[in-house]
Amino acid sequence: MTRAHNFNAGPAALPLDVLEKAQQEMVNFNNTGMSVMELSHRSKEYEEVHNEAISLLKELLQVPNNYEVLLLQGGASLQFPMIPMNFSPKDKTANYVLTGSWSEKALKEAKKLGETRIGASSSDSNYTYIPDADTIETEADDAYVHITSNNTIFGTQWQDFQLNTNAPLIADMSSDILSRPVPVERFSLIYAGAQKNLGPSGVTVVIVKKELLETAETNIPTLLSYNTHVDKNSLYHTPPTFAIYMLKNVLQWVKENGGASGMEKRNQEKASLLYDVIDNSNGFYKGHAEKDSRSIMNVTFNLATDELNKAFLDEAKKAGFVGLNGHRSVGGCRASIYNAVSVESCKALQEFMIDFQQKHQ
Ligand SMILES: *Cc1c(COP(=O)(O)O)cnc(C)c1O
Repeated sequence: MTRAHNFNAGPAALPLDVLEKAQQEMVNFNNTGMSVMELSHRSKEYEEVHNEAISLLKELLQVPNNYEVLLLQGGASLQFPMIPMNFSPKDKTANYVLTGSWSEKALKEAKKLGETRIGASSSDSNYTYIPDADTIETEADDAYVHITSNNTIFGTQWQDFQLNTNAPLIADMSSDILSRPVPVERFSLIYAGAQKNLGPSGVTVVIVKKELLETAETNIPTLLSYNTHVDKNSLYHTPPTFAIYMLKNVLQWVKENGGASGMEKRNQEKASLLYDVIDNSNGFYKGHAEKDSRSIMNVTFNLATDELNKAFLDEAKKAGFVGLNGHRSVGGCRASIYNAVSVESCKALQEFMIDFQQKHQ
């Protein structure tokens, strides 16, 4: 059996060990005579899976005790309206820092639900950088400040979170959660769709400070209120049980592989393999992101012409590399190298890039 060199942007690669464990347990989970998918979400067996996923998230992300961890549905995209619905009262303004298409989408939803402002934006350069913290404008009436920690499409990533604000800081970490240690205590709410770094699609992780929950709007639809899910341990209605089971197994794999700092070390090594080729290519490969804003999750680059980009992608595909097409808004190429993508896959891509340059320059 050969596994693909999978550089998909999301849903993305999962650890082989995790897939094989799921395969072994598929028709008889924990001697129940059933698959996890067939268990009642009110059963003791399922509840153990559910609570283990939550406690592993707390452990691996070092979530302080004054936070709740929720497992929701609707993807990161449903968080875009839920956040302003819950946390942007009429007398305040929600502040968005725009660093890519996903921040724009988050802002678009917030605009429909209340007042918004843009604290900073790097759209002038087609999002090649993260704005310096001291250029981000914040106001006393900010309901919160929303950032996107990793810009999946453009390949930029926040390096630290020293924003000058007393307002609650909220981050979309969909494409870099658990790829490195982060100071959770700096944030009032963190959210992430699971399908990039944490598991399959279908479950969204939310980490939210209790203090923020106390300020939440109450007159909103039940399912869109964070407090509904807090009160019921994310079991108010049927959760995506199989996705949560896979999430739990991915988290166990992360723990066995050195936790968040183990992931960071591996991810930096992987990213360096590819950025080194770009930097040593004499301009044959041109990185989209400015160097000090580069992501260790999504490596975005272009070749000199559309023809060369196309030839690169065609040959890469033939050589067994999957998912290297850049997003249509940037063009070119993108290697998404989330936690589960192996160092070996990145080495293989490095060699392929060097060979391709030698053949085509
Ligand atoms: C993929 C992605 C999303 C969208 O996630 P869905 O779960 O598909 O809604 C949002 N934000 C970022 C940063 C992403 O990478």
